[in-house]
Amino acid sequence: MNKQGIGTKCVQAGYTPGNGEPRQIPIIQSTTFKYDTSEHMGKLFDLEESGYFYTRLQNPTNDMVAAKIAALEGGTAAMLTSSGQAANFYAVFNIATCGDHVVASSTIYGGTYNLFHVTMRKMGVDFTFVSPDCTPEELDAAFRPNTKAVFGETIANPALTVLDIEKFARAAHAHGVPLIVDNTFATPVNCRPFEWGADIVTHSTTKYMDGHGAGVGGAIVDSGKFDWMAHADKFPGLTTPDDSYHGVTYAEKFGLGGAFITKCTAQLMRDFGSIQSPQNAFILNLGLESLHVRMPRHCENGLAVAQFLKGHPKISFVIYPGLEGDKYHAMAEKYMPNGTCGVVSFGFKGGRSAAEAFMKHLRLGAIETHVADARTCCLHPASATHRQMNDDELAAAGITPDLVRMSCGLEDSADLIADIAQALEKI
Ligand SMILES: *Cc1c(COP(=O)(O)O)cnc(C)c1O
Repeated sequence: MNKQGIGTKCVQAGYTPGNGEPRQIPIIQSTTFKYDTSEHMGKLFDLEESGYFYTRLQNPTNDMVAAKIAALEGGTAAMLTSSGQAANFYAVFNIATCGDHVVASSTIYGGTYNLFHVTMRKMGVDFTFVSPDCTPEELDAAFRPNTKAVFGETIANPALTVLDIEKFARAAHAHGVPLIVDNTFATPVNCRPFEWGADIVTHSTTKYMDGHGAGVGGAIVDSGKFDWMAHADKFPGLTTPDDSYHGVTYAEKFGLGGAFITKCTAQLMRDFGSIQSPQNAFILNLGLESLHVRMPRHCENGLAVAQFLKGHPKISFVIYPGLEGDKYHAMAEKYMPNGTCGVVSFGFKGGRSAAEAFMKHLRLGAIETHVADARTCCLHPASATHRQMNDDELAAAGITPDLVRMSCGLEDSADLIADIAQALEKI
C-alpha cells in the first residue's frame, strides 16, 4: 500500500469496498451503534476491543477519511476534528498541559498564535516564539526543562515563510520532544513532513484538502516514530495509567503507532467533543479524491500570478516561495520540489489606498476571509484579519498596510492575469 503513488492514495486509500458494497464511502449518519450484550459494550468502553459505540468518539465514515489522510502523510494513525483550530489545540494539549512549555515558530497562522499565546496560556501552557530563520543556537536556547513539543507550519499562512523542518526536528529530538508540523498549505501532495523528521502532522482540511470552500474541518496524523517510553518522564499522560480511562497506559497498550491518536480520541475528543460530522467527512473525501490533480494547478496559477506581479511597475514587492529570488526559494526547492501552494502576497507602490482600490476592481478574485479554494479570492489583512492593529503593530506582525494576500484558484491563469492587469490599470 505504501508503495503506491500519492495520486492513487488520494483516490483510493482508506476504503476498499467488499463484494456488492457501495463504491463511494458510505455516510454513517448515526449517533450510536447497537450491541447484543452489555458485556460486549463493556469491552469497547475498556478499549479491550475496537468497535463503534458513540459518534463523538468514533464514526466509520470519519475513520475511513482519516485513514486516507494517514496514508497520504505516511503516518500510522489519524483522526478528524471539527476544524483546524481543534486539530492544533488537541495535538499540543495531548502532550503539553498546565505547567508545560512549547517552542513555536513566530510566523504561524494568526488563529493558532491566538490559541497558543492567549487561550492556552490561560490554561497554564507557556510558549516561546522563535523566528523560523533562527540559528540552531537560538533555537536550542528556547528550550526549557518543561518543554514538551515544537510547533511550526510547512508554509506559514499568510507570511509564506518555509519551515526548515530538518532544523526544527533536530532541535526537538535533541531535547527529547516531538516536532508538530501544520501541513495545511503544502498538503501531503507537495510535502510530507514525516519524511524530514516531523513526528505529528496537523491540517486545517478546510483549505486545499476540501478545496471547494464547502466544509470546515481538521485532522491530526501520527508518524508512529516518536518513542514516548524513551522519554517517559516527560510524557506521563502517555506513559502512566489514565485513571479517567480504566487505568490504560496508552504507550504500552497501543505502541508507537497508536498511542498518540488513541489518547487524543479517548481523552480529548471524549471531553471536548470537537468532532467532524460524517457528512462533512464525506465532502472532505470528495476533495481529497482530486487533491493531487488540483494542487499542481494551484501552484501553476500562483507562480504565473507571482511572475506577472513581480515585473509590474505599480507593485512594490511579491512574496511567493515558488518564485526565483524569493527569500525562501531554496528552502521551497528542497522541501517542495513539485510546487508550494497557490497563495501569493504582494504590496503596492501606491500604499494602502492602492491596495484597497485594486481589490475593488477585481472581477474574478473575490474579497473573502478564506484561502485555498477552487475560486480565486483575496484579502487585505490590514482592513480585515489584522484590522485592530496600527501600522507599527502590523509591521511587527510582518504585514505592511499595503499587503494583499491572493489565493489563486483553479481558473485559467491567463484570465487571472488579465483580471489583475485591468484592476492595476484603474489604480
Ligand atoms: C486556516 C488555518 C488554520 C485553522 O483552521 P480552521 O479550519 O479555520 O479552524 C490552522 N492552520 C493554518 C495553517 C490555517 O491556514
